[in-house]
This record gives sequence, C-alpha cells and structure tokens, in this order.
Amino acid sequence: MRDFSKTKRIVVKIGTNILTKNAGVDAAYVRRIAAQINSLLKTGRQVVIISSGAIGMGLGQLDAEKARDIKMRQACAAIGQPLLMAEWRKSFLRYGVTVAQVLLTAEVLNNRKTYLNLRNSIETLLELSAVPILNENDSVSTDEIGSAFGDNDKLSALVASKIDADLLIMLSDIDALYDKNPRKFADARPIPAVFEITDDIMRTAGGKGSKHGTGGMKTKIEAAKIASNAGCRIVLANGRLKNVIGRIIAGEEIGTVFMPKRKLSNRARWILNSSPAGTIFIDDGAMAAIRNRKSLLPSGVVSVQGAFEAGSVVMLNDRAKAVTNLSSSQLKALAGKHSSEIRKILGPKHRDVVAIPEDIVMIDY
Ligand code: GLU
Repeated sequence: MRDFSKTKRIVVKIGTNILTKNAGVDAAYVRRIAAQINSLLKTGRQVVIISSGAIGMGLGQLDAEKARDIKMRQACAAIGQPLLMAEWRKSFLRYGVTVAQVLLTAEVLNNRKTYLNLRNSIETLLELSAVPILNENDSVSTDEIGSAFGDNDKLSALVASKIDADLLIMLSDIDALYDKNPRKFADARPIPAVFEITDDIMRTAGGKGSKHGTGGMKTKIEAAKIASNAGCRIVLANGRLKNVIGRIIAGEEIGTVFMPKRKLSNRARWILNSSPAGTIFIDDGAMAAIRNRKSLLPSGVVSVQGAFEAGSVVMLNDRAKAVTNLSSSQLKALAGKHSSEIRKILGPKHRDVVAIPEDIVMIDY
C-alpha cells in the first residue's frame, strides 16, 4: 500500500514527449496538468514543475525536424522556452496561480554559492504560493564545457534533493519500470515497487528513449538514485493516464515507486551530486578508515589525477567523494608522507588533513 498522504513538497517532472503535439505545445495537456496541480495546491502542498519541451517547441516553430548540432539546440531552446512558459502561465491563470520560470545549468548546482541562491529563490517562491517551473538553460549549457545536465531526469532529481522534496513524480510516455524491455519482450512485467537499485535493475533499464527529449529508462533510474539519497520517493508513471497526479497522491498503484534508502545531510548531498574536479587515489588502509568515518590523511594518498584547488569536490578512487582541504599540487608533494613531515612542509598554519569525515561521502552504501 502506498501512502503519500503526508507529502508536503512535490516535484513533478514532465517529459517532452507528452508535452508536445503536432510540433507544438499540447495546450490541452498543459491545462489538464495545471488543473491536477492546482488540486494539490488547494490541499496545502507545494509543487515545483520541471518542464521539458523547449527544444521540441523551438523545432516546431522553425518547422525543423531535428536539432542536429549544439548551436541548433541552443537556438531552438531560446525560441521554445517562452512558448512553453506562455502555455503554463495561461493554464495556471485560470486558478489565479502565479508561475515563475527558473532556468538552470549544472554549474549552478555544482557551485555551493549559486546552489544556495537557487534554494533561497525556490523557497521564497513557494512561500509566495507561486509555482516554480524549471528547465535546463539549454541556450547556454553544453556538454563540452561540462555545464549541461544532459537530461531533465537528472535535473529533476537534483532539484528534488536540493529542496528536500518528499516526492518526485516523473511523467513520461513510459508506463513503469519493467523486468525486461517491454519494446522487445511481450511478456515483460511492470515492477510496482523498487526498494534497492541493484546492478540488475540498471542493466534492464537499457538505453535512451525518445525523439527530442533525452531521458530513457536509464536516466530515470539514475535520477531515482540521486533522489533516494535525499530520502525522497520517486514515482514513474505514464503522464497520459487520466488524473494521474491525483491518483498517485491517493496511493493508487500506478507505475513504479522507488523507495529511498538513506537521507544524507544537505552538505553531503551537495558533495555527492557535484561534478568532481579530479581524483585522489588512496590505499586500502585509508579507504577502510574513511568507511569507518575517519579523516583522510596524506599518508594514505597514493597519487592524484587532475588539477584542483583546495575546497574542490574530488573523487576518492571510484568509491567516495570529498571536499579536499589541499590542492592537487600540495597533495602531489605530500602523498604518502607522515603527518610530522607534512606539518614541516606545509608550515604551522596549514591543516594536515586531506578531508574530514563530514566532508566525505561514500558513493555505494
Ligand atoms: N531541456 C530540454 C528541453 O526543454 C529537455 C531535456 C529532456 O527532455 O530531458 O527541451
């Protein structure tokens, strides 16, 4: 039995496929979703929408089939985004609800300062009873400069994690997670609840899905992992089902629910979800120590990959992420040395600890 009666803060992610129709916004669909979300608002819940569809709508406006390169995607997003927002605005206006547009890049979420700004602005909008509508700022972000999320599945999970949402609803044209690929196997069965995202589940999730949107099942599972570390439940469901949001909140067994495993602190989540600036390779003893919530000392460092400053988020082997107190060049000079030697090299003012336990987060747990 699913019980969402106590959920207060909900993120609803809507994919390109179900938002677009005949190369434009499916206005009737947007109206239906706005009506369902308005019902949630009336019960005192807060809702944040992650709306895809800007690139698809830009393409439709230009009468183009496909955005072949990055420049075209950027241009289409700039054309489509206001069209998308206009539709949301019109639909919510019927209920006297104000909407707000927030566009994000991965850099914004990686940087601790801008991430806190984002949190503050969303909190304020929610206090004002506005509905924030988020999308990736596709016109300025590209994979090449590491500023892109790649897909709104990941973005929605990061946002749900950052604003401490209790529930993330991901609506797409996919009904549920299946035990095998339903496009290939007629006997594929939907999985109603996932308690642990195992390697098996990752394998069955397969590759990418749709035409303009980028999220297939794989990215949805990755998103579920991110949200799960924030203590947030996720429901994947077909967005075309009648009154889908209301029925999910009422506890109906629709789609797949992913149950969270742990709730990390806000800072730990920021560390876990930041792109690493490099890798510190550490020995087995140091790995065992950090698993036991001990600090990472330079004596356990074997080598360093990448150039980074003190204060950056880095990988520790492929097992953990941490905020390092020492830069890559300092670490290179200190690797394997003992604390007494290190204090001599660094001088009295410097800390001789690479990372304290509060700044280390294990990736697998
Ligand atoms: N941000 C893209 C858009 O609005 C969509 C990415 C996705 O579908 O995951 O068109």
